Amino acid sequence: MKIIEPIVELINPPPYETALKTIEIAGRTCYQSGDKMTDGSAEDFIRRIVERGHESVLEHIGLTARFICDRGVSHEIVRHRIGAYSQESTRYCNYSMDRFDGEITVIDLASGFKYDLNNPRDLAKYQEWMAAMDDAERHYMRMLELGATAEEARSVLPSSLKTAVIVTYDIREWRHFLRLRCDKAAHPQMQQAAHPQMQQAANLAKNPLTQWGPVFFEDLEV
Ligand SMILES: Cc1cc2nc3c(=O)[nH]c(=O)nc-3n(C[C@H](O)[C@H](O)[C@H](O)COP(=O)(O)OP(=O)(O)OC[C@H]3O[C@@H](n4cnc5c(N)ncnc54)[C@H](O)[C@@H]3O)c2cc1C
Repeated sequence: MKIIEPIVELINPPPYETALKTIEIAGRTCYQSGDKMTDGSAEDFIRRIVERGHESVLEHIGLTARFICDRGVSHEIVRHRIGAYSQESTRYCNYSMDRFDGEITVIDLASGFKYDLNNPRDLAKYQEWMAAMDDAERHYMRMLELGATAEEARSVLPSSLKTAVIVTYDIREWRHFLRLRCDKAAHPQMQQAAHPQMQQAANLAKNPLTQWGPVFFEDLEV
């Protein structure tokens, strides 16, 4: 069994400058103010649009991200309806095969919940979780040995199982996603996946989305 950290990364994002221009052109169409476009006008224009709540203009640019997270977190991600998803299938992936190194991969519980492994209570919880992961893997592999298909054996796989999910939202939906999923009311592992650097600082600049396009996300209080 492998234990890994969650990862989020953008896949082939459009150049930031292109996104700025596209959104500025779209937004200025409403006011017929294209004549006011200059080389540096887009960011301030977009700030004003966001301040006014005219967020539909942000729907003209889509961004795709890859999340490596657990199945529990992925279930929360796919509840967002205004997007497209492609997800690793536990029906078609058989983790006993060589390309999976013949083992399951799980997302580390200790980092998501910020366990202090010098604290006996956290250590005990972590050891119990690891034992459960080992058991699940053993039962899964045994079912396959007994002739079960991957889609049968997956029934014993844990919520902590690693999954890969490709997510495409427009910028407006990413803003909505970040507002909900980086909030402290969200599940700690969801916050960790939505905002990978949150443990270090509530600093939007560390998020891959906000690194790509700061003006689109800088007003969010997450
Ligand atoms: C802290 C937290 C706890 C949660 N707990 C639970 C839980 O216990 N059980 C549970 O089932 N879910 C739970 N959820 C999931 C939640 O109910 C939503 O399904 C999820 O957050 C998707 O967000 P959304 O519905 O705002 O919008 P999205 O699907 O992301 O859509 C974006 C926006 O588009 C609009 N929209 C989309 N579809 C429609 C529509 N059909 N009609 C009108 N407007 C629409 C809405 O304004 C919506 O906010 C939880 C979410 C959070 C953040």
